[in-house]
Amino acid sequence: MRVPYIDLTAQYRSIKEETDAAIRQVLEEATYTLGPAVERFEKAFARYCGADSCMGVNNGTNALILALRALDVGPGNEVITSACTFVATVAAILWVGAKPVLVDVEPATRTLDPERLETAVSDKTKAVIPVHLYGLMADMDRILGITERRNITVIEDAAQAHGAVYRGQRAGSIGRAACFSFYPSKNLGAFGEAGAVTTSDVKIEKDVRILRDQGSDGKNNHVMPGLNARMEGIQGAVLGVKLKHLDNWNEARRTIAGWYSELLGGSPLTLPTVPEDGSHVFHIYAVETTRRKELQAYLHDRQIETAIHYPVPVHLQPGYRSLGYAEGIFPVAERLARQSLSLPMYPELGMAQVEYVCEQIKAFFDDQA
Ligand SMILES: *Cc1c(COP(=O)(O)O)cnc(C)c1O
Repeated sequence: MRVPYIDLTAQYRSIKEETDAAIRQVLEEATYTLGPAVERFEKAFARYCGADSCMGVNNGTNALILALRALDVGPGNEVITSACTFVATVAAILWVGAKPVLVDVEPATRTLDPERLETAVSDKTKAVIPVHLYGLMADMDRILGITERRNITVIEDAAQAHGAVYRGQRAGSIGRAACFSFYPSKNLGAFGEAGAVTTSDVKIEKDVRILRDQGSDGKNNHVMPGLNARMEGIQGAVLGVKLKHLDNWNEARRTIAGWYSELLGGSPLTLPTVPEDGSHVFHIYAVETTRRKELQAYLHDRQIETAIHYPVPVHLQPGYRSLGYAEGIFPVAERLARQSLSLPMYPELGMAQVEYVCEQIKAFFDDQA
């Protein structure tokens, strides 16, 4: 048996007719950038998230950059975010000229530790970006409890959490703004690059719409220097089709996570927390082991592909050393970088495949015993 880490072709086959028709319509209308398919998706995604508006952009990194710009975050400001995230979160803060301040994560949830957040706040802190890592939302009530008292803005990095829920509220509806990526492998993925900002703040909505389109507020009226960060029509069309399936796909991910947790219970692996309430959308199912390298090689030899998110934490990446964080400063994030292993996870993954993966993992530890 062969188990890939992810299989995007399986998903395409399951929605081929719908997506092909939606793409054909864009081609026939020649609405290649923004346009009606993007507008329809924006409305549907805003409603889905429980936000007043959604602005489609060309990737998740620019979603973060434009949300920060719309909130006037720039030179002289500090922005606090998680030490355990994809580099894009930190890069976006640097691209607007602000200073990233990193905070370690809680071991059980791998999301921003509110206690450490409290000590990292300074009088220069303008915003906090909690990252809903692997599909589990950060502890938003405790984070907002700290930021609201001090008038600090919260921007959700929801790039891994489409459809995730925190105490009855969807990702994308809690912060002043939220940023999504629709990179193909995300829970809601485009056929190429795409992203979005959601918000219920009319000023942020207006500014992001202006900023994504060369700073133009109406034709030939450029009110600020912007970017070309427009969402393509084809991506809007594909995302509009896929959004209707998102809840089912997330449910399938939760079922698969449940199988893993059941079958791997009692193994020496540290397993992720699986909330019973359907709030986690398992973008990634990551286990922890001190024997990661050997286990990954063992599984690879048995046709099982795994991944590592992320082998080097942002603060130890060569391009981010100048932030000034020495090795050892974020023990939880650094331990995850050494020990975390992401098991195959995509909605079409079958039970027989999950059983095979778990059998091989158990055989690995039995062989070593
Ligand atoms: C994917 C991702 C991004 C960046 O999104 P792109 O669309 O690749 O630019 C940002 N933050 C997190 C946590 C991500 O996983």
